Amino acid sequence: MPDQRFDVVVIGGGIVGLSVAMRFACAFPRLRLLLLEKEESVGRHQSGHNSGVIHSGIYYKPGSLKARLCVEGSAAMVEFCREHRIPYQICGKIIVATSAEEVPRLQRLLERGRANGLTGLRSLNRDELREIEPHCSGVAWLLVPGTGITDYVKVCEKYAELVSAQGGTVQTSAEVTGITESTGETVIETSRGPFSTRYVINCAGLHSDRISRMSGATPEVQIVPFRGEYYDLVPQRRHLVRSLIYPVPDLRFPFLGVHFTRRIGGDVDAGPNAVLAFKREGYRKTDFNLRDLSETLAYPGFWKMAGQHWQSGAAEIYRSFRKSAFVKALQKLVPEVRGEDLLADGAGVRAQALRPDGSLVDDFQFVCTGTMLHVWNVPSPAATASLSIAREIVQMAAQGFALQRS
Ligand SMILES: Cc1cc2nc3c(=O)[nH]c(=O)nc-3n(C[C@H](O)[C@H](O)[C@H](O)COP(=O)(O)OP(=O)(O)OC[C@H]3O[C@@H](n4cnc5c(N)ncnc54)[C@H](O)[C@@H]3O)c2cc1C
Repeated sequence: MPDQRFDVVVIGGGIVGLSVAMRFACAFPRLRLLLLEKEESVGRHQSGHNSGVIHSGIYYKPGSLKARLCVEGSAAMVEFCREHRIPYQICGKIIVATSAEEVPRLQRLLERGRANGLTGLRSLNRDELREIEPHCSGVAWLLVPGTGITDYVKVCEKYAELVSAQGGTVQTSAEVTGITESTGETVIETSRGPFSTRYVINCAGLHSDRISRMSGATPEVQIVPFRGEYYDLVPQRRHLVRSLIYPVPDLRFPFLGVHFTRRIGGDVDAGPNAVLAFKREGYRKTDFNLRDLSETLAYPGFWKMAGQHWQSGAAEIYRSFRKSAFVKALQKLVPEVRGEDLLADGAGVRAQALRPDGSLVDDFQFVCTGTMLHVWNVPSPAATASLSIAREIVQMAAQGFALQRS
């Protein structure tokens, strides 16, 4: 028999699960809420291995969830950091066209940003660029003044603290290993014993498809892990980058294209790239997990994607193994950067939801099935947008589970 009973269980103590739990506890204070996280502390995977950028919302298709929730969420994130004294800085970002062919794409990006409601976007001339980023090169530049940086691990810790303060329970070192639904009750087996609940919200990031399958649901997608590797500029060369310098993205894959990011602690990162990871939580090139890799290779969608995008994939792998190629990509943005200025500096792994036809799920995706809500695709900018994503999910859950506010 389960030894503990709850009304709502959130699986996953990343920034999305924590934010959902926090909003849930606030909106439904009478419901007994539990968050289960398999690691010893919160924010240990995607939420603790990202670039720390508070994105503005310029990249995303107007009308998409990503565009709306990023624009709303970035304002909410800044306000949250201010209120809770979490370090943040609105440092702005420069997007650089490095050739004449990229200039029309930069212009389209400006229009897209305006369509998404961003203010203050403007093209820079060379003199204005020199004032802001004196070491940056290129042929045309767009200033995104609202972009910022913060520390998302601190944000996660604060969310967890607020969940507890509002009467919820955050249980770490509790890996979900089984989910059984019977009438009116779901039993969740964990490494800390069973818990019973009326409703489940699956925010398990890199494992969200597995958690869905565990419950008997058939996810429409499979998670394919992509590792993003970073370099760190050595301290004596950090002056080359004052804030954030990004290339013009391919809007189909805005996560591709290495860039420079100043961290809230003062370090400057270069990267990340995007290469297939052989383990869902594999942060080193040598990390390998037979189950994870076999599942990826057995998924027809993976081969279809590989067939369609093998050129970009091959370029990313080449840059991963050849530092000189990585440096060459960075030199298009800041020509003074040299190989010896860069030290390898860890990695993050992105959970990318892939459809059986090989297409990447571009927008955020949450699906409610009976007494369970599945969060299947929350890639970047989900850290930025976590507060608005949570509001959206709590609304969806309230409707789907027919919950009454008290
Ligand atoms: C390299 C990289 C750079 C990025 N840069 C940015 C950025 O600058 N700005 C931005 O806004 N976004 C960025 N993102 C995206 C952002 O970090 C993610 O979208 C966000 O962190 C997703 O949060 P999550 O809670 O869904 O996932 P996660 O943080 O991965 O959390 C999922 C949690 O579920 C837990 N879990 C999984 N399985 C189980 C189980 N069986 N039982 C219990 N617990 C389980 C995991 O341990 C984990 O803690 C970046 C992502 C990456 C990878």
